[in-house]
Amino acid sequence: MKQLKQIRILCTIAVFIGIFLAAVGHIIAGLAMLAGAFILELNFFRCPLCKRRLDTRFRLHAGSRCPYCHMEIR
Ligand SMILES: [Zn+2]
Repeated sequence: MKQLKQIRILCTIAVFIGIFLAAVGHIIAGLAMLAGAFILELNFFRCPLCKRRLDTRFRLHAGSRCPYCHMEIR
């Protein structure tokens, strides 16, 4: 699933922007960005077949399988 990878990339970018904002003094904006990334991952980082939430540490690589329904996720 290409979409899952895009969500993960998006979340990673948002986390970096959040850390950067917090580092330059925009603590609130930084925290909002981190919260946004977290919510995004929580809501969209799911198995495309069984819709169960995947572990945020779940590694996406060729041949990855959903831990619940064992469908291949790419
Ligand atoms: Zn699944």
